[in-house]
Amino acid sequence: MIDTLPPLREVISAHDLQPKKALGQNFLLDLNLTAKIARQAGDLSGCDVLEIGPGPGGLTRGLLSEGARKVLAVEKDPRCIAALEQISDAYPGQLTIINADALELDVSAHLTPPIKVVANLPYNVGTELLVRWLTPKIWPPYWDSLTLMFQKEVAMRIVAKPGSKAYGRLAILAGWRSDARLVMNLPPEAFSPPPKVHSAVVHLKRLQAPRFEADAKVLSHVVATAFNQRRKMLRSSLKCISPDIETILISAGIKPTERAERISLEGFCALAREISRNK
Ligand code: SAM
Repeated sequence: MIDTLPPLREVISAHDLQPKKALGQNFLLDLNLTAKIARQAGDLSGCDVLEIGPGPGGLTRGLLSEGARKVLAVEKDPRCIAALEQISDAYPGQLTIINADALELDVSAHLTPPIKVVANLPYNVGTELLVRWLTPKIWPPYWDSLTLMFQKEVAMRIVAKPGSKAYGRLAILAGWRSDARLVMNLPPEAFSPPPKVHSAVVHLKRLQAPRFEADAKVLSHVVATAFNQRRKMLRSSLKCISPDIETILISAGIKPTERAERISLEGFCALAREISRNK
């Protein structure tokens, strides 16, 4: 038992939290498991934790029982708020709940460094937030690490190596500014209701400085464009970026006939710098 609050099944039925598909609600019910996920974020004492999508609060309770100084929980579904307030009562002054869409909210003002982000989110929201966390203009960002649950296939894309099938935008952005590792696998049965796919937790520790210089916006755009048509030669997939793309590719040390999956992070950063120079 990690705390004296009621089991999650009771919380869900007491607050009538029928899972909603549209919000990607697959809840974790085993508090030993949520505490284990919380531990993947490292030592939480002395840290503020941003949790996106707490739902009925399984992971929130894991984070607090593992010693987080403070948790800021951002949940879109208003039905979950009363359940989360019970957790707040059990940990006075340590849990702040915001009922909002995480894609619309600037959270940095509510947090004090050091800050860790921990979340179990629906796939599309998780990927969008991950890209935003990795591509602010100024680096280092407000957070020290991200510990995020994804469907396994997405987790593999984040930690993929060049040349592999999973290599693409997510691997490049993650590798550019962080050390990313897959730290835990979870079967569908860990969730209620069980999703169709396996899940995995990825831990990203931010680097103090990006591995190679590049403008975040330009890099993100060029990589997304190149992998959008990953089978095509770069001179053709990147034509929409500049009419001089062949010359730019050559100046960046990349053969225009090469395909995106064969280009290293260093190569893409060189290309982003050349594109910025030619703007
Ligand atoms: N963290 C809980 C757990 O592990 O059991 C719930 C995980 S469930 C996969 C995802 C949660 O994210 C749901 O509670 C859902 O309502 C919430 N959510 C979905 N989209 C969101 C958004 N844009 N902003 C904030 N929360 C969101």
